[in-house]
Amino acid sequence: MKDTFKHKGMRKKLAEIVAAKGITDKKVLKAIEKVPRHLFIDSSFEDHAYQDKAFPIGADQTISQPYTVAFQTELLEITEGDKILEIGTGCGYQTAVLLELGAVVFSVERQKELFKKTSLFLPKLGYRAKKLIFGDGYKGFTAEAPFDGIIVTAGAPFVPKPLLSQLKVGGKLVIPVGEDIQVMTLFTRTSEKEFEKEELGEFRFVPLLEDRN
Ligand code: SAH
Repeated sequence: MKDTFKHKGMRKKLAEIVAAKGITDKKVLKAIEKVPRHLFIDSSFEDHAYQDKAFPIGADQTISQPYTVAFQTELLEITEGDKILEIGTGCGYQTAVLLELGAVVFSVERQKELFKKTSLFLPKLGYRAKKLIFGDGYKGFTAEAPFDGIIVTAGAPFVPKPLLSQLKVGGKLVIPVGEDIQVMTLFTRTSEKEFEKEELGEFRFVPLLEDRN
């Protein structure tokens, strides 16, 4: 697993591309510049790692597009030590970006093989999530709720209630909602009972699967 000057140079460019598309949070851009995305992708496809594109990672899953990762991360407005729940660990790229921002990360994945692979892989790069969980993201993670932020990295046909109820007051849920095309939706919990909702454009994700565990 090598990370060279060439890779670093390409990452700097990638961060510039993401910035040009509208991401302004310096800390998020720094994280994109730091996480060695090529190591999250099969080495024979290394060339694809620093293009701003999603890429298949096996088992019908994808590593999210860097712009999308940056966009969702920026919406969470993370400060160091924030407790963040991620739904859809996948290969762990988004997890690594959250860790670069100083978040305390819990992440749920429903595919056993991916869960096992990523559980071994992230620590090798020095990325230590507080806990990676094998389970169904529709349920959130009650044991550690409430969270400062929840990020869903698969397309949800509807907004799972447990995710809203596991937010702190002031906390944010970033979730792409829809079947074929998703609308990036930001919920902010303004009180015990109230949520503010914002819709922030269309994206495409692999589906958040229900009842398949
Ligand atoms: N966060 C990843 C994106 C992975 S793609 C990245 O940084 O690239 C979405 C992931 O969500 C897949 O790994 C998929 O297996 C997972 N997923 C789908 N439905 C799920 C569910 N109900 N609970 C948890 N994970 C789920």
